[in-house]
Amino acid sequence: MRERLKVVEGDITRLAVEVIVNGANNSLLGGGGVDGAIHDAAGPELRTECKRHGGCATGDAKLTHGYKLRAKYVIHAVGPIWKGGGEGEAAVLASCYQRALEIAAAHRFKTMAFPSISTGFYGYPLEEACRIAIRTCAEFLKNSEWPQQVTFVGFGQHDYKVYRAALTEMLGGTRAPMEGKGGTRPPMSGKGGTRPPVKA
Ligand code: ADP
Repeated sequence: MRERLKVVEGDITRLAVEVIVNGANNSLLGGGGVDGAIHDAAGPELRTECKRHGGCATGDAKLTHGYKLRAKYVIHAVGPIWKGGGEGEAAVLASCYQRALEIAAAHRFKTMAFPSISTGFYGYPLEEACRIAIRTCAEFLKNSEWPQQVTFVGFGQHDYKVYRAALTEMLGGTRAPMEGKGGTRPPMSGKGGTRPPVKA
């Protein structure tokens, strides 16, 4: 199961996985952060399809096509706004991951990538959020053949390192060449404009 979970650093909009997850808001009509980046990269048709969903409840998720993204599909999950931890935020965040995984499994998506939902504008502490993400995915994969691989995307070195450390601590050893800096593939430096490159 450990080999079905991996961490990369970079921009989720560039990943060549079957489905990426968006950290959306209730309107599903786009916003800042990862939501804005996904809508920008997918093009305006994504917003048109999102409109047809008529919004999404917090803790739930909805599926759309990926349009100009490398990913064929996007699962839009709405995370909780952090209010100090006493308002059920942990359960709502776990529900986001769970719903996104259920949708991916129902469609038999092989590869799936998550950003760190709620830890940007919504203010959820990263260390706690990433543990919820890892725990929910690990539990789900124990009982499901699909998705076959889940990638956590750390946006920037700091987030990447936090995810990597939590994954090792919670689930044990890493598959050295595929993760971190010691990989066999060179970093994609110089190709990516202003966005950080994807290190897989
Ligand atoms: P939220 O409102 O759910 O907190 P944000 O978009 O503000 O959503 O942040 C969620 C996480 O997504 C943050 O850790 C942020 O650094 C990260 N993020 C922002 N842009 C991207 C991107 N292009 N790819 C991957 N992660 C991103």
